[in-house]
Amino acid sequence: SKWVYSFGAGHNDGKAEMRNLLGGKGANLAEMASIGLPVPPGFTITTEVCTYYYDHGKSYPPELKDQVGTALRRIEEAVGTRFGDTHKPLLVSVRSGARVSMPGMMDTVLNLGLNDQTVDGLATASGDPRFAWDSYRRFIQMFGSVVLGIDHHRFEEIIEHVKLERGAVEDTQLTAQDWQRVVDGYKEMVAEVTGKPFPQDPQDQLWAAIGAVFGSWMNPRANTYRRLHDIPADWGTAVNVQAMVFGNMGEDCATGVCFTRDPSTGENIFYGEYLINAQGEDVVAGIRTPQPMSEARAKPGERSMEAAMPGAYKELVEVRATLEKHYTDMQDIEFTVQQNKLYMLQTRNGKRTAAASLKIAVDMAREGLIDESEAIKRVNPAALDQLLHPTLDPKAPRKLLSKGLPASPGAASGIVVFSADEAEARAAKGESVILVRIETSPEDIHGMHAAKGILTTRGGMTSHAAVVARGMGRPCVAGAGGVTVDYGAQALSAGGQIVRAGETITLDGATGEIFIGSVAMVEPQLSGDFATLMEWADKVRRLKVRTNAETPLDADTARKFGAEGIGLCRTEHMFFDPERIGAVRQMIMSETEGGRREALSRLLPFQRQDFVELFRIMAGLPVTIRLLDPPLHEFLPHSDAEIAEVAESLGADVVAMQRRAQELSEANPMLGHRGCRLGISFPEIYEMQARAIFEAAVAIAKETGKAPVPEIMIPLVATRRELEITKAQVDKVAQEVFGETGHRVEYLVGTMIELPRAALVADRIAEVGDFFSFGTNDLTQTTFGLSRDDAGKFLPLYVEKGILPKDPFVSIDPDGVGALVKIAKEKGRSVKPDLKLGICGEHGGDPFSIAFCEEAGLDYVSCSPYRVPVARLAAAQAAL
Ligand code: ADP
Ligand code: MG
Ligand code: MG
Repeated sequence: SKWVYSFGAGHNDGKAEMRNLLGGKGANLAEMASIGLPVPPGFTITTEVCTYYYDHGKSYPPELKDQVGTALRRIEEAVGTRFGDTHKPLLVSVRSGARVSMPGMMDTVLNLGLNDQTVDGLATASGDPRFAWDSYRRFIQMFGSVVLGIDHHRFEEIIEHVKLERGAVEDTQLTAQDWQRVVDGYKEMVAEVTGKPFPQDPQDQLWAAIGAVFGSWMNPRANTYRRLHDIPADWGTAVNVQAMVFGNMGEDCATGVCFTRDPSTGENIFYGEYLINAQGEDVVAGIRTPQPMSEARAKPGERSMEAAMPGAYKELVEVRATLEKHYTDMQDIEFTVQQNKLYMLQTRNGKRTAAASLKIAVDMAREGLIDESEAIKRVNPAALDQLLHPTLDPKAPRKLLSKGLPASPGAASGIVVFSADEAEARAAKGESVILVRIETSPEDIHGMHAAKGILTTRGGMTSHAAVVARGMGRPCVAGAGGVTVDYGAQALSAGGQIVRAGETITLDGATGEIFIGSVAMVEPQLSGDFATLMEWADKVRRLKVRTNAETPLDADTARKFGAEGIGLCRTEHMFFDPERIGAVRQMIMSETEGGRREALSRLLPFQRQDFVELFRIMAGLPVTIRLLDPPLHEFLPHSDAEIAEVAESLGADVVAMQRRAQELSEANPMLGHRGCRLGISFPEIYEMQARAIFEAAVAIAKETGKAPVPEIMIPLVATRRELEITKAQVDKVAQEVFGETGHRVEYLVGTMIELPRAALVADRIAEVGDFFSFGTNDLTQTTFGLSRDDAGKFLPLYVEKGILPKDPFVSIDPDGVGALVKIAKEKGRSVKPDLKLGICGEHGGDPFSIAFCEEAGLDYVSCSPYRVPVARLAAAQAAL
C-alpha cells in the first residue's frame, strides 16, 4: 500500500481533503503546490504509518523504506542536488503535522543532511561559509534537542561562551569561524551527553528524525493538548520531509509568519511579522524583534517587508488573495524568501478570537467569498459567549503598571501567580488568576487554560502565549518588556512598583495595558456585525429562544439579547427578599390554614408587583411561570442562632420553630415534599400565586393594551390527577379575578416534564395540560438516579474514563433522557397535535442540546440571559 505522498515540482499525490491521511500541513502543502503556489518539493509519510508504528512495537511497514527512497530521489531531481552529496548537498526539513494543528507540540528539524563533509559543500556551493556553518550549528541544535532530547540550555551556553570570548552581543556579529567553533563545541557536548558521536550519515539522521516525530505524538505535552481539545490519540501524526529553502543566506533573504486578516480584530489587513536573514522559528523565538509586513502598520524605526523587499512582498500579497479565494477562509501562513524569491511553507485556517471570527464571517459573506448560511456556521456559538462579556469601563479609575502587546483581547482581573501548576490549583479553588510568565511554552497550557488572563514579558504577537491565548479566548498581554519577573522572589516589578504573588492585577488584552488592582468593567456592544449575524441566524432558525428570568434586570438583559419571552420564571427566588422572607416563614410556621392565608395575603402584593414588572418588559410575549417548587424547609433558618434570631423577629416561640424545622426536614428532599405535592397539601399557596399572576396580567393588559399570555407551569407532576387538581385551583382563581376586574386575559396551564413517569404517561397528562416544558435538570437526576448536588464526587471520573461521553447536566444525554423527551413528545402530541413544547434548565443554552431539541421538534429553548445569543446562533446552525 501507499505510505508516502509526494508534493511540489509538478507532482502532487495529495490535496486539502486528505487531511486525515496526510495531516493538515501535508495536505495543504500539496494543495498549495497544485494551485500553482511556490512550494519547495517534498513528501508526506501518512498518519497511517504512525498508527502502524504504535500497533507494531514501534516499527515501520516493510515497504516504507523504498517508498521514502523513491520520493527522496524525486526531490533530488527537482532541486538538482543530492542528499549527502559532498559538493552540492540536498538539505531537508523534517516536520510533523497532525490532522488538526497542535501548536508547538512537535518540533521541526531543519537543515537535515549536513555533516562535516556536506557543510563544506554547502559553503562552496553557496559561496557563503558563514551561512553554511550557521546552518550546521542550527541543525545540530535542533536535532540535538528534538531527536536526542538534550536540554536546549546546553546549546545556548556554548553560543554564549563563544560570544563572550568574541565580545559579541548579537548572533549576527559572529563569523563563519565563530560558528565553526560553536559546531565543535556542540559536537563535543553531544558526544559527552549521549556517549556517541553526532550522527554523520544523512540517512541515519533522516530516519532518526522521522522516528522522533512519531515518538513525539505520545509525549506528555502532546497528550495534554489532545486531552484539552478532545483529540483522539489514534489519529496519529504525519511526517513531512521537504527540500530546504534558506531565509538565512543574507540580506535578500527572510522568513515570516502572517495572517491574511488580523486574528485579534478580524480587520481585513495583511497582518504578520518577518525577519531578514533568519530561519525557521527565529520570528517567534523572540531573539530578534520581528518587523511588520505592511508599511501602513510600521512604526517609526521599523522596516516593513513592503519597504525592504517590495518584489517578494508584492508576490505575497497576490498569494494572500489566491489563498483566501481558494480556501474561503482566513489563512495563517508561513513563508521564506531566499534571494528575493518567495516560497510558501505552510497554510492553514487561522486561529482567531471570537471577535475576529464574527467579523471575518460577516465580512466574507459581504465580500461574496461565502454565503450567509456559511457565515452562520463559521462562528462557534460558545465563542460568541466571550463577546457578550464585559470589557474595561473607559471611565473607571485605574492605576497603570505597564504596557505590553495587545495579544488577545478582552479584560480580566485576578491574582498574580507565576506558574501553571499554581494557576491550576488556585483556579480549582474558585479564584480568578492571572498567569504571569517570562514566556510560555506548551508545558504551561493547563495553567493558561485555568487562568482568566495571561501576561508575558517576552515574545511577540505570534509568540506561543499570544497564539494559544487567542485560541482559548483568554485575554493576553504579551512581550511586556517593561515588566521584570522574579520567579524566585514570586514578584513582578515595573517602574519601581512591585506586585507580589497573590495580589490583584487587571489586563486589557485589547490595548496591552496592565493595571494594579481591579478595574470596573462594562457591558459589551451588541450592534454592528453581532447584530448582523444574529439577524441572519434569526432568518433561518425554527426554534424560538426564551430566557430563564425572575428579576426585571435579567428579563431586560435577555430582551436586549433577543429573548422571545420567558421560558422559566422560578417563583421561589422571589421569596428570599428580606422584605418578604418574614411573611414566608410565618406562612410556614403557622399551624392553621387561616394563619397561612393571612401570611400569604401579605406576600400577594409583592408577588403581584414582580409579575407586573416582568409582564411589562415582556409585553405581548409568552411568560412561563412555575409555581412554588422547593420543599418548604429551604426557607427556614438552620442553625440554632439563626432560628433564635428569626423567632424573635416573628414574635414566635423558639422551641416551636425548632420543632417545625424538625418536622419539615426530609431524608431526601429532592424526591420529597415539593412541587405539585406542596400545592396539593397547601392549596392556598398556589392560589395566592395564581391570583398575583392574573391580577398583574389584567393590570398590564389595561395599562399597555398588549395582554401578556401567562403560561402557568405546575412542577414535578407524575400523574394526570395531580395536574387536574392543581389546574382546577388555577382556573378557579382566574374566574374570580376576571369577575372582579371585568377583564379577561388568555392563559395556559401546563406542566414541567421532569419525572420519567410523567414522560411515560404524557398522553394522559396532555389531556389536561396545555403545554410541556422539559425540566431536564431534574429529568436527568431522576432518569439517572443521580443527585446533581452529589455528582461532583464521581461524575468527573465517569467522564474521564469515558463511561459517560459528557457531563449529562451540561449536555443532554440523548439516549436516555433524550429518549424520554421524544416519548413524551410523541404521546403528548398524539392527544394534542399543537401541544407547545419547550426545554428549560442548563441544557437550553448548550449548543449540543439545542441541536437535539431541533431534531426532536420542540418549539423553543429557554436559557439564562447571557446564553440567549448563543442559543439563537446554535438554533440557526441546527436548522441548517
Ligand atoms: P510548526 O508546526 O511548529 O509550525 P513547521 O513544520 O511549520 O513547524 O516548521 C517551523 C518553521 O520551520 C517553518 O515556519 C519554517 O519557517 C521552517 N521550515 C520548515 N520547513 C522548511 C523548509 N523546507 N525550508 C525552510 N524553512 C522551513
Ligand atoms: Mg513549532
Ligand atoms: Mg509551521
